[in-house]
Amino acid sequence: MRIQECPHCHVSVLLRADGTCPSCGANANGPADVPTTETIVTVYETDRMPDLCCRCAQPTQRRVAVRAKRQLDGESPVLSWLLLLVNWIAALLRMGGESRMQVRMPLCDACHGGPKLKPRDIRFEDFSLKFVVHREFRARLEQLRSRGVSG
Ligand SMILES: [Zn+2]
Ligand SMILES: [Zn+2]
Repeated sequence: MRIQECPHCHVSVLLRADGTCPSCGANANGPADVPTTETIVTVYETDRMPDLCCRCAQPTQRRVAVRAKRQLDGESPVLSWLLLLVNWIAALLRMGGESRMQVRMPLCDACHGGPKLKPRDIRFEDFSLKFVVHREFRARLEQLRSRGVSG
């Protein structure tokens, strides 16, 4: 029994005894219908990106802006107004309570013509987005991060 990344939905899961993923139901040990070079990575708004296409890992200087906005749909008008006020105060105090964020993902010319880059998950708690990316891109991004920490 071990936790592994499901090749289909990229969620880290404890596979069922028959090898199926409890998250998406696909058989994680069977032939994957997605390229095995794909993985998932959490990207922070403050990240410095490697000059590597996030989809195919080819060198590129090109960036594509991915914006996310906090959804207030479905809330009652009063609650929305309160949230807006809280956000506004937080923004004033520069506590990171803004309801928008943007990351600039490297995407080469060839991949730019493909399907739109869409985050799998958006977290305003720590201003992060989750993307399905090339394994090499994730490795380089994590390399850049660890370098940043050590100075
Ligand atoms: Zn899965
Ligand atoms: Zn590319």
